[in-house]
Amino acid sequence: MLNLTPKTHINRSGVLINPCKTCQPVGALFAALGVHNCMPYSHGSQGCVSYHRTYLSRHFKEPAIACTSSFTEGACVFGGGPNIRQGVKTVFEVYNPDIIAVHTTCLSETIGDDLKTYIDEMEIPEDKLVVHCNTPSYVGSHVTGFGNMMAGFIKYLANKGKTTETVAVFPGFVNPGDVREYKHMVDLMKLKYIMFPDCSNVMDAPMTGEYKMYPDGGTTVEEIRSLGACRKVLALGRLTSEEPATQLKRKCGVDFSLLPLPIGLADTDAFVMAMASLNGGDVDPLIDEERGRLLDLMLDANPYFYGKKVAVYGDPDTVLGMARFCLELGMIPKYVLTGTPGETFVKLATAMFKEYGKEEECKAFAAKDLFDLHQFIKEEPVDLLLGNSHGKQIAKAEDIPLVRAGFPVLDRYGHGSQPIVGYRGAFFLATKIADALMDKYDRTCADEDMELVM
Ligand code: SF4
Repeated sequence: MLNLTPKTHINRSGVLINPCKTCQPVGALFAALGVHNCMPYSHGSQGCVSYHRTYLSRHFKEPAIACTSSFTEGACVFGGGPNIRQGVKTVFEVYNPDIIAVHTTCLSETIGDDLKTYIDEMEIPEDKLVVHCNTPSYVGSHVTGFGNMMAGFIKYLANKGKTTETVAVFPGFVNPGDVREYKHMVDLMKLKYIMFPDCSNVMDAPMTGEYKMYPDGGTTVEEIRSLGACRKVLALGRLTSEEPATQLKRKCGVDFSLLPLPIGLADTDAFVMAMASLNGGDVDPLIDEERGRLLDLMLDANPYFYGKKVAVYGDPDTVLGMARFCLELGMIPKYVLTGTPGETFVKLATAMFKEYGKEEECKAFAAKDLFDLHQFIKEEPVDLLLGNSHGKQIAKAEDIPLVRAGFPVLDRYGHGSQPIVGYRGAFFLATKIADALMDKYDRTCADEDMELVM
């Protein structure tokens, strides 16, 4: 079908084709899954939560639990108050979580359900908690929903207290493998920290033969409460983590450093330096070693990276990080595209192109879809696609290698556990990029040009 994608752009405003984002509640649900003993709860109809759960399960290859207010016609007309009162009661009785994290959907937002009032007025068992956030899906994307849910937890739970030595790390919209990599680095920097939310050991819980509705991982409620006493927040992912970091500053006065996702060399350096500013400047030699190994690979494989044009697409922070890494590798991120709306993305990307003197060659787009990307590629082709699974039809139609990274990867296994952040994550990503480019060369070169040693 995509072979028929026309080259010529026409102005479209009413329809997205092959969108490069999904809806806010997907991110809210994912953030809530990163809280220990928490049941995510969708205030809307069953179809919404069924889609959100499926989407996350297909990416992580793990169950993504959630309950719903199960709206029918009555709730659509009269509001979902009775549904959520009954729903919360049932969830505590049947599934016994410590906390329920409610997010809204298009329908409950359009009706105008006042979740704060419902929650304030409902009977909640002693020692149990209910928090909420608003996630109207006609605004933003799953990335916005992720930040909104984090802000919701903070609004309800974080307490201002006597400042401790602990640092909070907001991971951004990343995989469990990335969270593990952060932990590895923060541990090496000898900082006491709270990771919030923490999807590791939840969305990549090991197979033990026993199903746990609430896996061992996740940030505890106690930890979320004590975020208000942290000395600093390292908010990773400028477009994802700003909202919750601002919320914590507003409520509890905790300062934050807003950093890019540490993908590639410079952005990981920024993360390490931010940590070093909190531990007296001590950088563990193992971190230097990991950095050195990455540099070595970048130099060794440079002839295969240099000058190659790439289309990078997906979630805004991930795309900005991967695009910068492409520039560090000597590649040209020709098209840098996200489906998430927001001009900040375009501004940050354009400033980055300027830093590397590539502003003429590279273009950034927000609120675009993959049909647009395909048309750009038809106008001027690229050597590589770097992004989520939704680009696979373009890859097939145009015979361009695709390196899967970011969210979602629906058609391959193990990606959730493989980091792309930190020096080691960048090492894995660079290896995959080099493999893809060299595989294509091997497949398409003349027999006499085929080399055993490359
Ligand atoms: S109706 Fe709204 S919340 Fe529900 S699945 Fe569709 S976009 Fe998402």
